[in-house]
Amino acid sequence: MKKAKIGFIGLGNMGAPMAANLARAGHEVTGFDTAGTTAEGVRAAQTAAAVATDADVVICMLPNGAVLRHVADEVLPAMKKGALLLDCSTVDVEAARAVAAAAEDAGVQFADAPVSGGIGGASAGTLTFMAGGTEAAFRAATPLFDVMGQKAVHCGEAGAGQAAKICNNMILGATMIATCEAFALADKLGLDRARMFDVVSTSSGYSWSMNAYCPAPGIGPQSPADNGYTPGFASELMVKDLGLSQQAAEAVDADTPMGALALALYRQFVENEDGKGKDFSAMLPRFEARGRSS
Ligand code: NAD
Repeated sequence: MKKAKIGFIGLGNMGAPMAANLARAGHEVTGFDTAGTTAEGVRAAQTAAAVATDADVVICMLPNGAVLRHVADEVLPAMKKGALLLDCSTVDVEAARAVAAAAEDAGVQFADAPVSGGIGGASAGTLTFMAGGTEAAFRAATPLFDVMGQKAVHCGEAGAGQAAKICNNMILGATMIATCEAFALADKLGLDRARMFDVVSTSSGYSWSMNAYCPAPGIGPQSPADNGYTPGFASELMVKDLGLSQQAAEAVDADTPMGALALALYRQFVENEDGKGKDFSAMLPRFEARGRSS
């Protein structure tokens, strides 16, 4: 790709390393964050509109849909016609579709492209992008996906990337809980954890939660469990994503009882059980400490 002028809004845990990778690849990156954070190789601007003016692409990596809508209201009028607004945040499907419509009115291309891979993937440039938007918007974003990630899937029209993200994370929340409660049961049955891993990771109970991100310390590949359950993927972010999937399910009348229960358990963990700031696999010590009536 020819070197692009990129405006990057939201230089937090994810956005800062993503912006730094784009700058390292030779793009001219200007960044803005309300907290005043910066990133390596990125020129700081004072407002969101300032990074949008003259940019070929504006990338957002923001906390939620309300902030995205607010930022889009500010940057769309400042953007060049035909430029691309690429939102990589995880937000509600409605917000993605509303910003897509506003972009169309402003003559700006839009793609929602939430990511999987966490802070490690953001730093290493190995994220997976799940994108929604027109074919042309996806094509325009592809060279940037190639810098920031290792895979990008075009899931459909605007909002489809967010739909894929929240469905994936609804499965993830439920399988992590199932894996943790099974380990806690295995402990009480006197089953050695390493044997449990050997069997389940090659049997029909296997999943990413067991095989790649095992919640039992010292078992399986390196994971946050081996580091005192420091995130990783914080439990409060899982609460956010499970909340988005329930919000979406409500909007389209989908029956998602496992997702609803996973949300209730993670919410309880974060709000009442000292789970805040812990990786979402810290559900294992939570279950270990409980019995049927606790
Ligand atoms: P973060 O809180 O570290 O970063 C968000 C940044 O946005 C902050 O620096 C904040 O100051 C900034 N911000 C807030 N309002 C703003 C505004 N109006 N204008 C400019 N900047 C503003 O969060 P994060 O971990 O970087 O996550 C960002 C997004 O990526 C979220 O939507 C999250 O759900 C998603 N995500 C995170 C992970 C992860 O592991 N952290 C993984 C996948 C997806």
